[in-house]
Amino acid sequence: MGFIPYSTQDIDDADVAAVTAALTSAFLTQGPAVPAFEETFAARHAVPHAVAVTNATAALHLACLALGLGPGGLLWTVPNSFVASANCGLYCGAEVDFVDIDPVTRNMSVEALEAKLESASRLPDVVVPVDFAGLPADLAALRALADRHGFRILEDASHATGADRHGRPVGSELADIAVFSFHAVKVVTTGEGGMAVTRDAGLARRLRALRSHGITRDPAEFVAEAPGGWHYEQQALGWNCRMTDVQAALGRSQLARLDAMQAARERQAARYDRLLAGLPLLLPARIPGLRSAWHIYVIEVDEARTPVSRRALYDALRAAGIGANLHYAPIHLQPFWRARGFAPGDFPAAERYGARALTIPLFPKLTDAQQDRVVDVLAETLARAEAA
Ligand SMILES: *Cc1c(COP(=O)(O)O)cnc(C)c1O
Repeated sequence: MGFIPYSTQDIDDADVAAVTAALTSAFLTQGPAVPAFEETFAARHAVPHAVAVTNATAALHLACLALGLGPGGLLWTVPNSFVASANCGLYCGAEVDFVDIDPVTRNMSVEALEAKLESASRLPDVVVPVDFAGLPADLAALRALADRHGFRILEDASHATGADRHGRPVGSELADIAVFSFHAVKVVTTGEGGMAVTRDAGLARRLRALRSHGITRDPAEFVAEAPGGWHYEQQALGWNCRMTDVQAALGRSQLARLDAMQAARERQAARYDRLLAGLPLLLPARIPGLRSAWHIYVIEVDEARTPVSRRALYDALRAAGIGANLHYAPIHLQPFWRARGFAPGDFPAAERYGARALTIPLFPKLTDAQQDRVVDVLAETLARAEAA
């Protein structure tokens, strides 16, 4: 049945037609497709401003800058994320620290954050919660803490395009800025790509300037009187983080199918829940009121109930041509972060999770037969371990 990856893109004829149309139009970049994608994305996420960029890493970096993070500043995030959630703080010259996760949701622990805020000698300027696997983080609780302690919330919603809290889309409220990724493995793709959304017009203006060298072409923003129609002003130090029209055309076409792709992911997640229920594994939590984007489906080996190791399950899946993976080894235990003073034991819940977790395949085109194969390999490996 061929190799089954943990995730892969879903490209259909409409996507190909949209990309072809962009390629043969007058613009490859800075044409009409980027604002059209931004408007569609903003509408889908019920937020007034969306700024498309080259990737979510750039979106996190520019968002930190737009929020005023700089040398002497402090950013807190979770260890259970892709390294970009932490690196963005260092890009700005700020310090970075971590807050442990809740073992059930695998998102930032509100209790751990509250305790750290109470005892910290220095309060964070920016806190970056991650909507892990697509499950929205508890932003209502974080917003209350942000208002009390004066930090900004930069939500890393890279996994969570289309997810919602009590019917309200991720990114629409509570965070100061939310960031999404369109890497090929994510729920909506542009190849590489990212988006920053905000309700704040001033932040949106700064994000737009930072993505294009710190330049503005809006006469209303000029410091000097414009000597002619050619005039633009560089008013800050920015970068070139612009998305191309080709990518934006793909993204907009993908968004038109987001509901259908999400329904496919939800169906598969429910199917895994049912098929894996009898096995000695921990399955993703279902939290009332939270609709996950199901970017990934992560199981955990429960050592209390089975002698099998995570390594044995991973190796068995890989040997069967199944692209099991780990999301994530804790960031603070990466060599780069250990060299910055972090050590095992610093964030026990994230470390325990990182030692037990295994991502199994989930993507819109995964067939029931492929899913059954994944379940069979897990069941057989567990049965063999129990018999031994
Ligand atoms: C994928 C990912 C990123 C980075 O996204 P890119 O678009 O690849 O730069 C950041 N944070 C998280 C949680 C991610 O999963």
